[in-house]
Amino acid sequence: MEVKKIQKQLFGTNGVRGIVGKDLTPELVLSIGEAFGTMSKGRIAVGRDTRTSGETLINAIKSGLLAVGCDVTDCGILPTPALQYLVKDQFDGGAMITASHNPPEYNGVKIIESDGTEMGDEETLKLEQRIFDRSYSPNSWEHVGKETIAHHLIEDYIAAIAKLFPDNPGKGITVVVDPGSGPACATTPQILTRMGCRVLTINGIMDGTFPGRLPEPSPEGLKGLAALVVSSGAAFGVAHDGDADRAVFIDENGQFVEENQEFALVADHICHQKKGVIVTPVSTSQMVEIVAKKNNCTVTYTPVGSIYVARTMRSLIEKGSPVIFGGEGNGGLIFPDHQFCRDGGMTAAMMVAILASHRQKLSTLLAQLPKRHMIKDKISATGGVTILKALKSAYSHGIIDETDGIKIFQGNSWALVRTSGTEPLIRIIIDAEDNAQGKALHNDIMEKIQNVT
Ligand code: MG
Repeated sequence: MEVKKIQKQLFGTNGVRGIVGKDLTPELVLSIGEAFGTMSKGRIAVGRDTRTSGETLINAIKSGLLAVGCDVTDCGILPTPALQYLVKDQFDGGAMITASHNPPEYNGVKIIESDGTEMGDEETLKLEQRIFDRSYSPNSWEHVGKETIAHHLIEDYIAAIAKLFPDNPGKGITVVVDPGSGPACATTPQILTRMGCRVLTINGIMDGTFPGRLPEPSPEGLKGLAALVVSSGAAFGVAHDGDADRAVFIDENGQFVEENQEFALVADHICHQKKGVIVTPVSTSQMVEIVAKKNNCTVTYTPVGSIYVARTMRSLIEKGSPVIFGGEGNGGLIFPDHQFCRDGGMTAAMMVAILASHRQKLSTLLAQLPKRHMIKDKISATGGVTILKALKSAYSHGIIDETDGIKIFQGNSWALVRTSGTEPLIRIIIDAEDNAQGKALHNDIMEKIQNVT
């Protein structure tokens, strides 16, 4: 099965994003609402993260949807996965006003299809075309939509996750949650409390100026969380990005857990319980493949981007494949028993379940994972396509994968080289057994790139 990326103009990998008042205006969001509403019809759920521009923009999207005749349910401030969960069960589509991990001056729109997944490339191209052509028209007075306010629906999402982990698995476990002043202030602490955990929070009050840390949960920004984990004797700390579809962790010693390790740890736990397929992009560390093999499971690779993972998971399941887990090595994990999108609250809950079942410290569990060494690099370069072609012929004697960019395998190491869709940039990821092998492959690739440029 092959999923190919299509370049879009307005929408990126995860929706439209831009600086508010500059690239992202109420007029643009209004036209997205009108175009999306014309395409999808029916009942549309909308929600937003905590950004200061959220109120302006949610009113713009609602206005567009209502004008073309959609009935709109405003779910208020909630994580993107919470809105996706509600759409999957109760609505014909959704629109989330969020800029995810971007700084406070940004905002954006993520469009959600009726199955709860983010809109795929082909539909997005149609939506873009409709926006460019202004191919929609507001209805007359008797055919405009109706608005319902339903901020209480967030409870359905909290209850759905808590129900998956019955019998108080969190009893005796202290967790520090850092929702980063985002919408998970209203969900992750509640989910973990219902699982029996003792929950402390930092940056736990919603605030669109993000006074405590930026929406990207970087090791630098999570120093406060790390300190509180250590001083409170917590089992772990969990932090979300600005719309809580991702979760990253701090171990009991205050150490940041690299996201590929997080992915491999959860994969290992799930592979112990069930046998089947794990779906992840070609950029994810080899750790997951080693873990899967050890447990008699397999890995299917996709282009980089959670939407490709989610859609591949769905289509494999439709073809009868037992897909047990998916996601990316950036804290965006997908649990098919729950829903087909990245879910930070669900990931936090899963970590509690993992610690409860193994009865070992998080750092001990991480130390048992296979050791890999990853190098991430980016270089500015125009003519990315030429560079990729040159690399392909230079390494043509070995194994090459072209799912996304070019992935070059050498012994137990690999290098992934991709061009950026939006900037004159080349991104390089090396995944090797040790530092020396990683550096050698990195040097080799750089040398070959320099020969072309
Ligand atoms: Mg996000």
